[in-house]
Amino acid sequence: MGITEALCNYNTAFIQHCSYVGIFVLMALESMIAPIPSELVMPFAGFLIFSGYFDPVWVVVASSLGSLIGSLLSYGMGVLGEPAVLRYGRYLFLNPHHLEWTKNFFARRGNITIFVSRFIPVVRHLISIPAGLARMSLTPFILYTVAGATLEHPHAQLIALPIVPKHVLEELEGAKQYYAFKERCVFCDIIRQETDESVRVVAENEGFLTLAPYAPRFPFETWVLPKKHESAFEGSSSQTFEQLARALKNLLQRTDAVLDSPSYNLAIHTAPVQEGPMEHYHWHIEFMPRLTKIAGFEWGSGFYQNPTPPEEAAKYLREAKIKTATPAVVG
Ligand SMILES: [Zn+2]
Ligand SMILES: [Zn+2]
Repeated sequence: MGITEALCNYNTAFIQHCSYVGIFVLMALESMIAPIPSELVMPFAGFLIFSGYFDPVWVVVASSLGSLIGSLLSYGMGVLGEPAVLRYGRYLFLNPHHLEWTKNFFARRGNITIFVSRFIPVVRHLISIPAGLARMSLTPFILYTVAGATLEHPHAQLIALPIVPKHVLEELEGAKQYYAFKERCVFCDIIRQETDESVRVVAENEGFLTLAPYAPRFPFETWVLPKKHESAFEGSSSQTFEQLARALKNLLQRTDAVLDSPSYNLAIHTAPVQEGPMEHYHWHIEFMPRLTKIAGFEWGSGFYQNPTPPEEAAKYLREAKIKTATPAVVG
């Protein structure tokens, strides 16, 4: 096991075991030079929010507090470090002029430096020490650290599993049965049928068809399918990815316009790795805006209640007024 893998396993186990306290401690350590990337801690916390184990509000509170306390401890190390720099600094090529320069720099640019450094790995681990050394005022230090640590931003999680997830497995099995029966890929058939009927089509470009599936689990669930049969996402050409990027941007603009920029989940369903090309499976993206909450019936039965017919959802999205270089072909 490599060191990164060991660290990953340890951190994820730690969060699972210690819950919000785990996030707090890891984020505090992360802000104090410890080799714990928040890129590892926060996606896992995000995954646990998605799975319903964590409350997002408490994750934000625990991680922000952790970052702040860690940064303050580093700041404290900087404050206590001045005599050491003056005494031993020459061994590190530091002299009192450097200290003076640091103090002047933080007096002029401290606020923006602290804020921006929160976005830069490694720098954010180290920045609090010179801030302490320069005796930057504590109030702006705290304000800009918190502002930098809690900025809302879109993010993606890439989670590799040792098994094929149940949902994809069911899809694979169903597609296999369909292929055995009809000798055609079910997704290619869906593309053909939906293009002909066009009531559930949201948009289309040269490479992709965006549609509301016939039986969506959630309101405004939308799929993006490559028109050319391809079982593995990773086997696609760069031209396909370019078309996909445009199809996705188009869909997101439509969703933003119609549903007021909702939070969403987006999953890539692709053939299991190392299985080789499959005639019966067709990779695609399933896009689900978070509009309703999954409730007791869904948890208990595995069935989904959806109050919005796909034809209606597709119509709204299709007719959305968006600025785009690639207008929908249909509608
Ligand atoms: Zn296909
Ligand atoms: Zn799927």
